[in-house]
Amino acid sequence: MSWVKDKVFTNADEFLNWLDSKFGDYIGKHISENHVHHTWKPNHSNYPKYTTLQLHKNMRNFHVGTNGWDDIAQNITIGKDGDIVTGRDIRIIPISAKGYNGSTSWHPFAYEMIGNFDKGNDSFEGKQLESAIKISRYFHKKGKPVKFHRELLINGKQPKTCPGTGIDKNWFMGLVKDSKYDIGKSPSNPTPAPSVKPETNTGTNSSSSSNKAPQATGSLGLVDWMKSKGMDSSFNNRSKLATKYGIKNYQGKADQNTALLGFLQNDNNKPAASKGDMKTTSIVDYLNSIGVNSSFSNRKKLAQQNGIKNYSGTPQQNLTLLNKLRNGNSTKTATNKTPVFKVNAKVKIKSSAKKYATGQNIPSSVKGKTYTIQQVKSDRVLLKEIYSWVKKNDLA
Ligand SMILES: [Zn+2]
Repeated sequence: MSWVKDKVFTNADEFLNWLDSKFGDYIGKHISENHVHHTWKPNHSNYPKYTTLQLHKNMRNFHVGTNGWDDIAQNITIGKDGDIVTGRDIRIIPISAKGYNGSTSWHPFAYEMIGNFDKGNDSFEGKQLESAIKISRYFHKKGKPVKFHRELLINGKQPKTCPGTGIDKNWFMGLVKDSKYDIGKSPSNPTPAPSVKPETNTGTNSSSSSNKAPQATGSLGLVDWMKSKGMDSSFNNRSKLATKYGIKNYQGKADQNTALLGFLQNDNNKPAASKGDMKTTSIVDYLNSIGVNSSFSNRKKLAQQNGIKNYSGTPQQNLTLLNKLRNGNSTKTATNKTPVFKVNAKVKIKSSAKKYATGQNIPSSVKGKTYTIQQVKSDRVLLKEIYSWVKKNDLA
């Protein structure tokens, strides 16, 4: 069993295979917690001029040469692209957090993520997020608590904002604890579904849509994707774009970046995005525009089909659902059962219908007949011929 310094792994799976085969036993017996840090400096702006290994070595030089420590402080460094470089020997006490570094036989495992994740700076997303989650999950599963540096109080006070005010601990732990959460396929790192055509019963499928999806961008984070398109990926510009697409309070959080990426990819992908209302940021408006039942219960169904758990209609869930549907996920199951609620579409008032949406009784003479939709709202439509609002539930 020997630790190797400056060993580079391209992803967390590789690293964890190595770590567990060599030190799984040691970790069980001697590692107390997993400490999570961001470097603040260096950060994402140091790429691509430097590699993670170079930045990591610079940190060691600083820790040893300037701080006078025996080695680099952390056990590993996680780079911007999720790559991992080994630092301090896991069997030696790390220099993680004042007062919390433990003893030789019972000490934390500390990782540093290269980046400044205080709000308004670097984005914590993509492969880097994936590596951090997987590594913390490894320790979590072994019963080792995952601690953010800022939780390790000194005299009752936060020593730093580390690993950054932009990372919410509850959100982070939600990902760590959910083993089924496959980051590569999750809302935090959306993979467009290029092979799945949007399927609705409007009969207007465009056959070219499936070929135009941005196939090469599936695994890229927002910033990388914007760069690949030659866009300004600065926080300021992302913030501006977020506002444009209706993402409120943009702080560069992973879910916000995911939502923004979805909007940008759709705009970039017009031919595939030609169906329905591609401008709106409302899931209800969008579903109505493609003739899909936009009621809460149907949205919940669609959310479930698209892997969104515990749908309660939060703005973030709605945005995620909107992106997924626009990116080509199927709405078919839902549409099979419901009529098309679209302006000029024909619908029939069910004979079981009792009252108009506005409360008055529906006379039996108008039931069972077909009418034209003039206007669509979330739960009701206006029928042209009788100029009355009828609940969607009462239509077939
Ligand atoms: Zn820290």
